[in-house]
Amino acid sequence: MIEVEGLTKRYRDHVAVEGLSFKVNKGEIVGFLGPNGAGKSTTMRILTGSMPATAGRALIGGIDVFEDPLAVKRRVGYLPEIPPVYLDMSVTGYLAFVARLKGVKGGSVKAEVERVATLAGVDHILPRLIRNISKGYRQRVGIAQALINDPEVLILDEPTVGLDPIQIEQVRKLITDLGQSGRHTIILSTHILGEVRATCERIVMIARGHIVADAKLKELETTHGTPLEQIFTKLAVA
Ligand code: ATP
Repeated sequence: MIEVEGLTKRYRDHVAVEGLSFKVNKGEIVGFLGPNGAGKSTTMRILTGSMPATAGRALIGGIDVFEDPLAVKRRVGYLPEIPPVYLDMSVTGYLAFVARLKGVKGGSVKAEVERVATLAGVDHILPRLIRNISKGYRQRVGIAQALINDPEVLILDEPTVGLDPIQIEQVRKLITDLGQSGRHTIILSTHILGEVRATCERIVMIARGHIVADAKLKELETTHGTPLEQIFTKLAVA
């Protein structure tokens, strides 16, 4: 469902990612794990058609991200690192706005807003101003907007960053439920090892702009003979 081949991004003379190649199969939940500055957000932005790469190829559902970014945007739900919410809008107003942007027809907007709000657990706060809801709920609203049009692929960039432990637990459960529904292929970027353990089947580990591991969590721990924490320190931090 997601194919990345030799992806490189340079910001002027700084190489953010270089020669990345990996695949995500339909229905998988993959953790894109790396320390700060490893190149996770850069890769997520390229995959969603939000930014061009310097070299390489990325395909989503067989569609080339660079050749047809609009078609890719229709198939992908994206939660950027900072949720793209407007503080002065109500939750319902914002979700309806995104639904119209994503091409939901007028008569179906209300039902689609209610559907994604229920899935993301924000249906009881629809009339509230986004400014007045907690960070955890803003994150859920960010996930709700990513679910509009029931996209095959969900790309979530650091979905629990800045949340309190209860909110983290709730957002992780939401992601796991979305994965188990079998409707979505999910790639989730994080620097938090517990996040990967709690939600992901497979790990693509990135450090200094390069992939340093790509395997199921259990396989990785068996091969290295140590828990993920030590593998991460050895491959990504050292
Ligand atoms: P974090 O978890 O801290 O967000 P990350 O793994 O998402 O990190 P990126 O944000 O992709 O990493 O950044 C990768 C590298 O590219 C970093 O060295 C960063 O400073 C650099 N970088 C990112 N965006 C830009 C930009 N617009 N211009 C120049 N350099 C950038």
